[in-house]
Amino acid sequence: MTLRLFNTLTRQVEAFTPLAPPKVTLYTCGPTVWNYAHIGNFRTFVFEDVLRRYLEYSGYQVTHVMNLTDVDDRTIAAANKAGLTLAAHTAPYVEAFFADRDYLRLEPATHYPRATGEIPQMVALIERLLQRRIAYKGDDGSVYFAIDKFPTYGRLSRVERRDLKAGARVSSDEYAKEDARDFVLWKAARPEDEQAGAAWDAPFGRGRPGWHLECSAMSQHYLGDTLDLHAGGVDLIFPHHEDEIAQSEAATGKPFVRCWLHGEFLLVDDTKMSKRYGNFVTVRDLRDDGRDPSALRLLLCSTHYRKQLNFTRDALEAAAAGTQRLGEFRQRLAAGAGGAGAGADGGKGGEGGLGALADGLAREFAAAMDDDLDAPRAVAALMNFVRDANRALDGGGIGPSERARALETFDRTAGVLQVLPAAESAITVKPVYARAAGHAEAPVTAETLLAPPQPGEDLDAWARRLAEARARARGRRDWQAADEARRLLAEQGFEVRDTREGAVELRPVGARPKPA
Ligand SMILES: [Zn+2]
Repeated sequence: MTLRLFNTLTRQVEAFTPLAPPKVTLYTCGPTVWNYAHIGNFRTFVFEDVLRRYLEYSGYQVTHVMNLTDVDDRTIAAANKAGLTLAAHTAPYVEAFFADRDYLRLEPATHYPRATGEIPQMVALIERLLQRRIAYKGDDGSVYFAIDKFPTYGRLSRVERRDLKAGARVSSDEYAKEDARDFVLWKAARPEDEQAGAAWDAPFGRGRPGWHLECSAMSQHYLGDTLDLHAGGVDLIFPHHEDEIAQSEAATGKPFVRCWLHGEFLLVDDTKMSKRYGNFVTVRDLRDDGRDPSALRLLLCSTHYRKQLNFTRDALEAAAAGTQRLGEFRQRLAAGAGGAGAGADGGKGGEGGLGALADGLAREFAAAMDDDLDAPRAVAALMNFVRDANRALDGGGIGPSERARALETFDRTAGVLQVLPAAESAITVKPVYARAAGHAEAPVTAETLLAPPQPGEDLDAWARRLAEARARARGRRDWQAADEARRLLAEQGFEVRDTREGAVELRPVGARPKPA
């Protein structure tokens, strides 16, 4: 079996064929940091995380770029309303996004470029489009993309060509299909932009980039002209992704994206989630509520990413009960599991034994996920395995190495979805220092980190930080500090393992102390 994915561009499920396997390039549109992201946004991010983790599970090496939109209509309006500069207004929301990301166990992207940090790339891209006469300067001083100069405009969203209003212009970042017109690449600076510190000099006049242009410039900068995968929510198909294709392909003459993936909406109590409808639930609401993130992840994984999902408190409770079942099973399995190669039973596992059940889980999990990321079927495979393996354990006579092998399979498959409760879930940390330059998170000094978690501190986030500190200590050959980090992690119930790929895996051992 090979991975097959529904490509929005062709409206078909296709075999996934990256340009240069085992390398895969993935671009996902990140949050607009004008406010806290709601769980509708995070449904998309979790779907993208499952995609990324499954690609890695399948042996691909993924370079993942997620941008942070820190300049657009909404961020500027919000900054002005708060009487702050753009930088001051967006900074806490960037921090909040990273905290929410860690809480929800989203694997950190390889790069998090911020739009305001990539202005030279954006200016260069616009110059290229102006030279090719695909872009023009309007009488309002802004620069626009001429859609009639790009004959395949509308291919992704299937806008009717007769509905296109070439020559008419739209300057707002968001607009409807009925307003498919020449769209803005660079907006001439207004006094409110200057006031918010959201204006830059360019050869074609002082101003700031349009939202769509930002993603074209940033994806090209980090991933090249043609990407393997580009993902986002369905609300981004038009105009955002349509305009990204137009800008990128008109500039390079090459295909922009090989496969487009779009996640469906999250409804809350049957209404589209939005501030407008007053049903705005943020991830931090759930965290402040003391919710284990695995419950939300299991809830999201129980509906296919291309179907609408209705979020209700009852559904969240049911998912929490499901993760508890998975966690209790893992504890039971781990209690009698030896390390690799331990035990004298040889781990053969007869017909219908635990070993055979684990092999069946691995096969069924891969078959489900290869079929356009059928996470609900993968969840069912995990639940069936729990039921059957519990029966096998009831029967007795299963040795430690067979248990260890089954545990390995269970952890690896459940780890793609990240649906085990915190106390049962392995955490993978890819140390920042080892990543390419351009990462948005500033390193923190190891010295400030080598301390037990503070009262009320999120244990997983603390463990990640300590693993990073340990990796940095090892990098500078400070074995004493590295050992201290390992000791502190063990105290909190984390076993540290270094993987061949240079990542650090934190595995739960025994019962973790309850957070203060
Ligand atoms: Zn984007």
